[in-house]
Amino acid sequence: MLKLSNKILNRINYREETNQAVIDFELTEEHRALQNTVREFVAGEVAPYIKEWDEKSHFERSIFDKMAELGLLGVCIPEHYGGAGFDYISLGIVCEELEACDTFLRVAMSVHVGLNSLSVYSWGTEEQKQKYLVPQAKGEKIATFGLTEPNAGSDVIGMRSSAKRDGDDWILNGEKMWISLGDVADHFLFFCWTDQEKQKVRDHSGLSCFIVERSMAGFSSGTLHGKLGIRAGNTGYFSLQDVRVPQVNMLGNEGEGFKIAMFSLENGRYTVASGATGVIRASRDASVAYANTREVQGQKIGNFQLVKQKIANMEADYQMSRLLWLKTGYLKNHGKPSAKAASLAKWQATVRSEQAASMAIEIHGANGYTNDYPVERYLRNCKAAIIYEGTRDIHTLMQADWALGLKKEKAARVTLPPYQSAEAKGTSS
Ligand SMILES: Cc1cc2nc3c(=O)[nH]c(=O)nc-3n(C[C@H](O)[C@H](O)[C@H](O)COP(=O)(O)OP(=O)(O)OC[C@H]3O[C@@H](n4cnc5c(N)ncnc54)[C@H](O)[C@@H]3O)c2cc1C
Repeated sequence: MLKLSNKILNRINYREETNQAVIDFELTEEHRALQNTVREFVAGEVAPYIKEWDEKSHFERSIFDKMAELGLLGVCIPEHYGGAGFDYISLGIVCEELEACDTFLRVAMSVHVGLNSLSVYSWGTEEQKQKYLVPQAKGEKIATFGLTEPNAGSDVIGMRSSAKRDGDDWILNGEKMWISLGDVADHFLFFCWTDQEKQKVRDHSGLSCFIVERSMAGFSSGTLHGKLGIRAGNTGYFSLQDVRVPQVNMLGNEGEGFKIAMFSLENGRYTVASGATGVIRASRDASVAYANTREVQGQKIGNFQLVKQKIANMEADYQMSRLLWLKTGYLKNHGKPSAKAASLAKWQATVRSEQAASMAIEIHGANGYTNDYPVERYLRNCKAAIIYEGTRDIHTLMQADWALGLKKEKAARVTLPPYQSAEAKGTSS
């Protein structure tokens, strides 16, 4: 198995000329090496056990240590912050490969890297980066993102969590629900109202964001049970009761919480899109394998036209979804606005992943309805991605508003730093 050592990283052949309007559909040698690394990792460390973990709702914590060893938990974080220093397309590659095996792996990338680490990297002070980002990128600490509350999901402004100033500190209170890795993570982004007057008039400039640690007094968490899918993953809740947090733990400025949340979600949606593309691919591959072996009336079912149609749709959905996330990754690499592209990629890939998994079950007949085959797990797993990080309805409305000119990509105070190879930064050996 290839480890993402510094030597490999320094060989990244990131072409400066791609800063021009060059469209290159080829993955680089390093992208392919990374892809193979993740494929080998999931084939050896996850695929043999995932049926059992899913059946028993078993969360295998040690798998994150293995992902950390490979550098995956900081794949697109610069090396000087403890990461592997790959580009943002690499993040998409990792997510596609992980979710082609099981969604719980990609969810970890989404919350740990997409929603948390990239936000600390972009909005954090140098002190916050050293204290939180570095151990996260190395995989020594696991991080997640606490936005949703029991009564506030799509309606972020409807949240009730609050922070009140006390000298140089803040006193945090609130309940966060449906938090991926909520009962196992070490670090949390916590969004809450810091201006109660603005809360009354639903003015989002009264929201702020704090970095919270599990070890802080007043923190408690639990695991949610009875989920349809992602049973090998941890989905939880956490509660803050009079948690004292120093001012230095505020991410961004006071009143920038909503902007940070939207920034984080944009990166998270990119990981969800690339991951859902992996579900489409896995559904297609399982269907092709089954159609090439199952015989009915003396012939392979792959000869039946309606089976072919389902496989053709999966192939088309895979190729289209892949192009959409690759375009989003390209925009991120070049520091261009990508909110609209990430939303489109997330919306389309997740909806198509549900269709692909459902069709894969039908191709498998009754066998598809049991966990002797992986396709029923794909369907149970992929449904949540149509709900989190903006529901299907929310993305449909956003895309319509962009098309109608009712919504614009607004420049924020902080944007995701474009990718810079070690060579470009002058740090290669
Ligand atoms: C497995 C899983 C993991 C999750 N992980 C995290 C996490 O790590 N961190 C986190 O903060 N959250 C997480 N979430 C929460 C997730 O982001 C929310 O569930 C999601 O935002 C939807 O909110 P809701 O469940 O409150 O649904 P609601 O907002 O109540 O929506 C219910 C329905 O109403 C529709 N609707 C709502 N508002 C509108 C509107 N304005 N216009 C049109 N239709 C609308 C929705 O489309 C939906 O169909 C997770 C959820 C799941 C299922």
